[in-house]
This record gives sequence, C-alpha cells and structure tokens, in this order.
Amino acid sequence: MSDETQSRTSKGMYIHYCMHKGCNKWGAYGFKGRYGTEWFCCKHKQDGEDTPK
Ligand SMILES: [Zn+2]
Repeated sequence: MSDETQSRTSKGMYIHYCMHKGCNKWGAYGFKGRYGTEWFCCKHKQDGEDTPK
C-alpha cells in the first residue's frame, strides 16, 4: 500500500488511461503487471489487483 490518488499533472508525465476493456477513464491507479505498469480507474482498480504477476 503506497500510492493513493496521484493527482500530479506535471509536464513529462505520460498519458495513461484505464486499461479495462471498454473503459476510457483516466487510470489513476498503477499496478505492476506482466507488461509493466498497468493503469486503472478507481472503478476498475480491482482488475489491476487481480492481474496475474
Ligand atoms: Zn476503468
């Protein structure tokens, strides 16, 4: 348990939206996935927690 909502919008920060299929919301929650960091919105962050490592 580390980063909660990261609301930093400093330049240089790359765009990442929720990776849930069909969801185009902002991915505020990052998880370590098979392909690097995966991002999910607050509604789908469970997807990231369930991602097989
Ligand atoms: Zn989502």
